[in-house]
Amino acid sequence: MSLAAFDGTRRVPPAVNEPVRAYAPGSAERASLQTRLEQMTAEVAEIPVVIGGRRIHTGHTGTVRMPCDHQHVLATYHKATPELVHEAIAAAAAARAEWASWRWEERAAVFLRAAELLTTTWRNTLLAATMLGQAKTVHQAEIDATCELIDFWRFNVQFAQELYAEQPLSDHTMWNQLDYRPLEGFVYAVTPFNFTAIGGNLPGAPALMGNVVLWKPSATALLSSWYTYLLLEEAGLPKGVINFIPGDAAMISDIALTHRDLAGVHFTGSTGVFNSMWETVGRNMGKYRSYPRIVGETGGKDFIVVHPSADPQAVAVGMVRGAFEYQGQKCSAASRAYVPASLWPTVKARCIAMMAEMKQGDTRDFSNFVAAVIDERAFDRLAGAIDEAKANATIVAGGGYDKSTGWYIQPTIVETQDPNYRSLCEELFGPLLTVYVYDDAQWMETLALVDGTSPYALTGAVFSRDRQAVREAMTQLRNAAGNFYINDKPTGAVVGQQPFGGARGSGTNDKAGSKSNLMRWVSTRTIKETFSSPLDWTYPCLLYTSDAADE
Ligand code: NAD
Repeated sequence: MSLAAFDGTRRVPPAVNEPVRAYAPGSAERASLQTRLEQMTAEVAEIPVVIGGRRIHTGHTGTVRMPCDHQHVLATYHKATPELVHEAIAAAAAARAEWASWRWEERAAVFLRAAELLTTTWRNTLLAATMLGQAKTVHQAEIDATCELIDFWRFNVQFAQELYAEQPLSDHTMWNQLDYRPLEGFVYAVTPFNFTAIGGNLPGAPALMGNVVLWKPSATALLSSWYTYLLLEEAGLPKGVINFIPGDAAMISDIALTHRDLAGVHFTGSTGVFNSMWETVGRNMGKYRSYPRIVGETGGKDFIVVHPSADPQAVAVGMVRGAFEYQGQKCSAASRAYVPASLWPTVKARCIAMMAEMKQGDTRDFSNFVAAVIDERAFDRLAGAIDEAKANATIVAGGGYDKSTGWYIQPTIVETQDPNYRSLCEELFGPLLTVYVYDDAQWMETLALVDGTSPYALTGAVFSRDRQAVREAMTQLRNAAGNFYINDKPTGAVVGQQPFGGARGSGTNDKAGSKSNLMRWVSTRTIKETFSSPLDWTYPCLLYTSDAADE
């Protein structure tokens, strides 16, 4: 069937950041969210594999548990089999031509509608899924599952419009054009547990640009990932454009990453997993139709470096918020701080006072500031690091842990005199902040230490009221962070305001939610059309002239 055409240069609505709701006591928004939390607590969702829009219950199941109450099962999910992974690749291939033939504005409309559904009818569901399944407090869930995901979808549409508008020079003899083609094959999107928004963005950004996708969600964020998938379906995403494939990550990756049609990898997660995926692609280079685009945002060992001129109250707030919000499980979370000896007694006292007031517990109690870490593996890793610190360093605050009901690690500050202490170098991904106190006279040496201590370069912050010191930190730490903060905590990047990503061991720095990220999901074709084709093969310089004859 030929479809009705549309003539006109369409403009998408200008993107604006979704306002953050407060959920204050007595508010209607709080009451309706609490009702949804109660409903979803009482349910056990059943999560299938979805291929070409078809729900498949394989019977090989796993469970999604509440980190704050680990005996509570929130969902049962069905794991993909190897045959289904092949089927998903085939379903994506079948959907590709039709989706790529849609005008980009039609694809954009799906994501704009998804954003609107998320501000309205889906808001409470995605919030509750994130609070229950990933143990985010209401504020942390709001800035992630609603605001950031809405922002990704709206801003990506605006950035796509700007990208498509970038066209080369032409003149009256010829018209030069760029055709922003979707990649030839499928994109493999592998998402982490810690951001519902990343779950929606990694498959969503390539799909917006006309690609088809296999989405491998994280087993510990499955409830929110599943509802995100359903929301996209309701928004009008055609069957087969995004195929939802929960299950064994290594098995699914082995098939997807070695397939001839692998056109791209869109990954966020740990550096080790990303490295192993890149190695697999490298080993299979001869197999692919095109060079796969490999985009990965990975680990961090994010720092706060404090100059003696800093405001100690601002430093303490930056430290406790930056290190402990979402239990330190943001890739951007501050996990090492370098504080001058002159400020440390004041900063320490203020951190201890703030931490004494911080409540920890179930996210359904809105007065809690911190909750549980994601699973038992994370709990054991962090409890081990705390035990190690008890033996080899000083616990300044916190130091407790308890897994009887949920995976609770108390926010903890460790002080060490060893600049290469393990928790200053390795990503531990939890509410553990290690402090190194330096001699005030050693500012420049400390900047060199910050730069050289870890293999990562994701986020970092300098606190200083001395502009010269800010300039020194900006210069010395230029390559130490992809997102650099001055007098602010190193977390909380907002789409459209602070494009996010880091280099070194922290990823390919393609900046999630930006035009440069979208650029990775297209392969441009340059078209030159000449209006008046040359009919003579010669050039004027070839004309024969004899100097002698001229004379
Ligand atoms: P993870 O690496 O354990 O898992 C990420 C995804 O990879 C999951 O879907 C997982 O199932 C999958 N996976 C695991 N093993 C795999 C394998 N062998 N092959 C293919 N896929 C595999 O990470 P996580 O615990 O979910 O998330 C935390 C990590 O993510 C931290 O290192 C954090 O710094 C990083 N992170 C980075 C950013 C960023 O923007 N740089 C953002 C969020 C999280």
